Amino acid sequence: MTAGPDVRNPMTDGHAQASDRDGDFSENAIRPLSLTDFVGQRQLKDNLAIFVESARQREEAMDHVLFHGPPGLGKTTLSQIVAKELGVGFRATSGPVIAKAGDLAAILTNLQARDVLFIDEIHRLSPAVEEVLYPAMEDFQLDLMIGEGPAARSVRIDLPPFTLVGATTRTGLLTTPLRERFGIPMRLNFYELDELEHIVTRGAQVLGFTLLPTGASEIARRSRGTPRVANRLLRRVRDVAVVSGTEVVDQELADHALSLLDVDQRGLDASDRRYMRCIAEFYDGGPVGIETLAAALSDQRGTLEDVVEPYLLQQGLLQRTPRGRMLTRAAYDHLDMVPPARYTADAEAPPQTRLFDEP
Ligand code: ADP
Repeated sequence: MTAGPDVRNPMTDGHAQASDRDGDFSENAIRPLSLTDFVGQRQLKDNLAIFVESARQREEAMDHVLFHGPPGLGKTTLSQIVAKELGVGFRATSGPVIAKAGDLAAILTNLQARDVLFIDEIHRLSPAVEEVLYPAMEDFQLDLMIGEGPAARSVRIDLPPFTLVGATTRTGLLTTPLRERFGIPMRLNFYELDELEHIVTRGAQVLGFTLLPTGASEIARRSRGTPRVANRLLRRVRDVAVVSGTEVVDQELADHALSLLDVDQRGLDASDRRYMRCIAEFYDGGPVGIETLAAALSDQRGTLEDVVEPYLLQQGLLQRTPRGRMLTRAAYDHLDMVPPARYTADAEAPPQTRLFDEP
């Protein structure tokens, strides 16, 4: 259990963690602290501001919130901002960490009235823990079994009213009863270019170097619509600038640094291209099942679904069909490869496949 972000002590940390630590510090320094500083996601932010204000005026705990969307879009950041704007305490944990019902009980009974409890990766809670969470969310009550066998008895404990903020990369994996207990479900979308430019420009100020607008748009364009990627690329561009003794980062330097990182013009990195090449070269553009792909690439299915695919789908490079993944014509163009003959017909994919595409 941690209250607030985990900031390590630079004086006591082992040397081996030096690079991680640098990442953590920059990440925490760059993290926006208020809804006003939080760039993008306008509609979501406007709604959230209303719900926060209403809870403040009523002096009640805000309804439970579920943030969902690909990693790195700001779910954790928003949760911290919600607590701050509500003026209440913030406790953070994650689904896989809460192994037993007792662990959750310990966390819940330690909350203060109206606190925000943030559970990251909430789709990974075990069923036994979820069972305990339902009455806690709905009635602020905890039903616990004490003891075992014939001596076992159940006790009911009243909890302070609290706000649960859940974050997940995949709502599809949440059980329906859990999903329905969130009064405020909110989806985060990929960011627009101007928003990412804004984020990296602010980040450069925090990191203390000059980033020209041309440099900012080059980084933004290659950030996969994701602030976490934008901030990471920004730090690597800074590294190249420092080593080359350059004080002002322009488009040329940003381009050079990003090419060194193997991030191409569209923001795709080596693993994205490896994924697309695998479908093109071994499966003739698809359809191919996700499990087969994961095995062929020696990658985790979850990583492909959470990290690699969302951006390729959003960019129109990939299609998800009930029969499996398929590359689009644009993917072949991007890879500079000749597509199979069926791609040169009018439609990008055979009509029978497109009919059944997932939404
Ligand atoms: P998630 O929880 O969705 O994986 P985080 O909240 O951890 O994402 O955000 C990842 C990084 O991106 C953080 O360093 C955060 O500061 C930055 N970030 C995310 N959203 C924004 C935003 N809208 N404006 C500025 N920085 C952002």
